[in-house]
Amino acid sequence: MGILMRTSIILIFTQIIISSSMLSASDQDECFDLNSSVEKWIEALIEEDWAEDWISYLKEEDEDEIWYFIQTTEAFFETEEEVMEYAQFQSMSLESDFVEWLDEKISALDKELAVDFVRTDERSDSDFIIAVHDGTNPDNYVNLTMTGYVSETADGEEYVLVMNWNLDDDSFLTTFYHELGHVLGLEHPFASDDDDCIGSTEEYGDETAHKGLTLMAYQDPPDDWPYPDFYTENDLLALKRIFEFLE
Ligand SMILES: [Zn+2]
Repeated sequence: MGILMRTSIILIFTQIIISSSMLSASDQDECFDLNSSVEKWIEALIEEDWAEDWISYLKEEDEDEIWYFIQTTEAFFETEEEVMEYAQFQSMSLESDFVEWLDEKISALDKELAVDFVRTDERSDSDFIIAVHDGTNPDNYVNLTMTGYVSETADGEEYVLVMNWNLDDDSFLTTFYHELGHVLGLEHPFASDDDDCIGSTEEYGDETAHKGLTLMAYQDPPDDWPYPDFYTENDLLALKRIFEFLE
């Protein structure tokens, strides 16, 4: 896939913006060890509240499908973004081979899980929207330098997975899967607000979980580790756990 532009500027900004953890070193002691059992990994990676939202929704609707809409035309979005509170952006118009690429990436996950992902052409029918912006922003909000994020729209009506176009191919893919992981109920391995971090509460460093262990990490894998192009075993086990009630 050569259609994504290559620049490293966005990644540098993101590393500054997301380093907002206020936790002290002693908190690291409370994290599960990186060599922990699969059960600990699953516990650390699932955000119970987000996962429970899907489980109760699908059970209520008696559904085994999650519907997504890809915003392929320019549209104005106002979102409530958790870290920076607010962002507005103009989505890019997307070429059909890129849309196909997104479908393929989602379908690769679909094959692993009991839940089915279905693309709808009706935005109002979708459970979540995928939108891509090019980093420009009418109000110059700094969080548009983030690689990607997941948010409700400002009116609370819709749920959007927002991607920044200005990533190289590898990080576009891992960021997309990272954000999709959030959509489906996964959290960062270093997140300790629900008392189940793994590795370390640090977002970057030698002690913290890296992307070779979970795509929900920020830290790149060590040099001798292949750069991931799909969810890791840990990620897949956690995602399977969330949707196993559909089996
Ligand atoms: Zn994240």
